[in-house]
Amino acid sequence: MSAFLAEQHIRDVPDFPKPGILFKDVAPVLQCPAALQEVVDALANDARKYGAEVIVGIESRGFVFGVPIALQLGLPFAMTRKLGKLPFDRITEEYALEYGTNTVEMHTDAVDPGQRAYIVDDLLATGGTAAAAARLVERLNGNVCGFGFMVELAFLEGRKNLLGYPVNALIQY
Ligand code: AMP
Repeated sequence: MSAFLAEQHIRDVPDFPKPGILFKDVAPVLQCPAALQEVVDALANDARKYGAEVIVGIESRGFVFGVPIALQLGLPFAMTRKLGKLPFDRITEEYALEYGTNTVEMHTDAVDPGQRAYIVDDLLATGGTAAAAARLVERLNGNVCGFGFMVELAFLEGRKNLLGYPVNALIQY
């Protein structure tokens, strides 16, 4: 049991989106302002510790947690989005899934050269998405100063995809 109230509000949904997957539903955390506040405060403290200058959120639950962190710290917020959603000049990174691939994109002006970026998502699973987000930041010559997740599925060893970066996850399974 972690010290975070949010842990009591994470709902397990078996066999979603497909058989064999235990989905960690964070919607009830968002319905509990005290739990959400604790998560935002903890990740904002971590981002501050690593000298973040921009918060990067991974679509879409990374936006929900990332925007209040950016506001709390008075920092800009940058989106990494799924393929085909961004309207302006963009760069693209593909990453492997168990079957097939996925693609994430970022606007070319989302991160400035040399800027320290703290990357946020709700949950770290295999780490493929987070690693692709880091590659996007680095292609724009930004520096990834750390990753922040509310939840880590530690048995999937996603940290192995993020070696060399500080990784903070508040609640581990
Ligand atoms: P990965 O690239 O494998 O680390 O997957 C991370 C992304 O997929 C995050 O944006 C998560 O929100 C989502 N995700 C992966 N597995 C789960 C799960 N078991 N429950 C909820 N979300 C998940």
